[in-house]
Amino acid sequence: MDRLEIDRPLRLRFAPSPARTLHVGAARTALFTWLLARTTGGSFVVRVEDGDEASGDPSAEAAILRDLRWLGLDWDEGPDVGGPYGPYRQWERAAAHREAAERLLRDGAAYERDGALWFRVPPGTTVVHDAVKGDVAFEHDTLADFVVRKSNGVPAYNVCAVADDAAMKIDLVVRGEEHLDNTPRQILLARALGYAPPRYAHCGLIVGADKHKLSARDDATGIDALRRAGFLPEALVEHLALLGWSPADGRETFALAELVGAFSLDRVHGAPSTFDLDRLRAFNARALRALPRERYHALLAERMQQARLLEDPVPEAAHRWIETFLDAYGREVHTLGEALAHVADLRAEAVTIPALELERLRNRHVLFFLDAVSQYVDAQPELRGLALGHDLAVIGDEFGLAKDDALGAVRMALTGAHDGPPLALLFPLLGHDRIMIRIGAVSSHILHGRGLEPIKYGPGGLPFETIQPHPPGSGATGPADPGS
Ligand code: GLU
Repeated sequence: MDRLEIDRPLRLRFAPSPARTLHVGAARTALFTWLLARTTGGSFVVRVEDGDEASGDPSAEAAILRDLRWLGLDWDEGPDVGGPYGPYRQWERAAAHREAAERLLRDGAAYERDGALWFRVPPGTTVVHDAVKGDVAFEHDTLADFVVRKSNGVPAYNVCAVADDAAMKIDLVVRGEEHLDNTPRQILLARALGYAPPRYAHCGLIVGADKHKLSARDDATGIDALRRAGFLPEALVEHLALLGWSPADGRETFALAELVGAFSLDRVHGAPSTFDLDRLRAFNARALRALPRERYHALLAERMQQARLLEDPVPEAAHRWIETFLDAYGREVHTLGEALAHVADLRAEAVTIPALELERLRNRHVLFFLDAVSQYVDAQPELRGLALGHDLAVIGDEFGLAKDDALGAVRMALTGAHDGPPLALLFPLLGHDRIMIRIGAVSSHILHGRGLEPIKYGPGGLPFETIQPHPPGSGATGPADPGS
């Protein structure tokens, strides 16, 4: 493979089309391009292109720039910051594109047919010395003459890109494999226009976990959608970096700043790579755990406010609540979206208890026990710092319940689940009212919804055992229940 000499500052550009939102594939291109610019001490240029589609929609451009910034990428030249080779919106460079097309005609490299201007592909072969794919030869027979100015007078995409890359003194074009077929045409055009073509690096396809090519139009792999789902830019950058590149030491955890310098094109391969949401979730869980506590707190508060689960400004008590929440769930969740779902569950009055679990609670002793727990809670001025393991076991004992059954019944009545954070955190998170409402709802459902007779058959037609009391001190426990 023809290696790229990277011994000088390179000028590189990222050329998104505002017809699409920034998706995983384009974000990977942007990241690799940015990394090469920063690693070589060169320049990262953002040029917004509308290709053949009419555009100029300022909100679409703003959304792309916002997503790039959110990922942590900054640019030296671009539509918003300007620069020495502007303008940086392709449609604002139309005069230069028309001039280039005109020049091709004048020089005999193009001819008119049916109102359009066609590039005359000479006989021969063009070899693209691709920094990732290696040498790729294109026989000109297979290229055929192509349009450089449409019959409506608008220059075609390839001419615009070639003219702009030359005018912006771009050294290296990094982009996705889907553009490889355009490359021999762009090289031919550049030569015909008297420019030294830039170097090219085409990164391999990105496929989803289902092995299908990721679609640029799939909203789920849009950067904005991933942000809204609660992924952190740190995690996304880690996954994007590994889409076709791997570090020499095989590690998977790196901050953007660490990637600068570590990244090099000779460790980028051209084979397809997999964008895997599960992997991203794992990276994201790790990134959340690594967050400074104040940032985690602030991000969650912001999400809660967006979901109208928190006032603005945040009351002091809510800050304490968030701290307790982070103690309880901060290390468990994979995304901020997941965290928010827990918040919403905790804030709800009602809880869904699986029918069979409800049947297990259908027992006088359990009901009296839960009622006693409710009174106990009502009597506590403060739910933080209670010795719940001890206190609930003592109450359970009064009703002949083994400790694990007692704690398990409380957890089930309060959350509808067997597992979750320690009750000592759950109690202050739920607060007095919700605890009593939830326990009350379970009791009333069991008492009034159905009779108190135990259900006869459980899963698979086997008798379904309810939690049974046993004489205190017998050492026996009820049916297996992980309790708290
Ligand atoms: N505007 C093109 C795209 O979004 C970029 C092509 C290129 O990088 O040369 O696909």
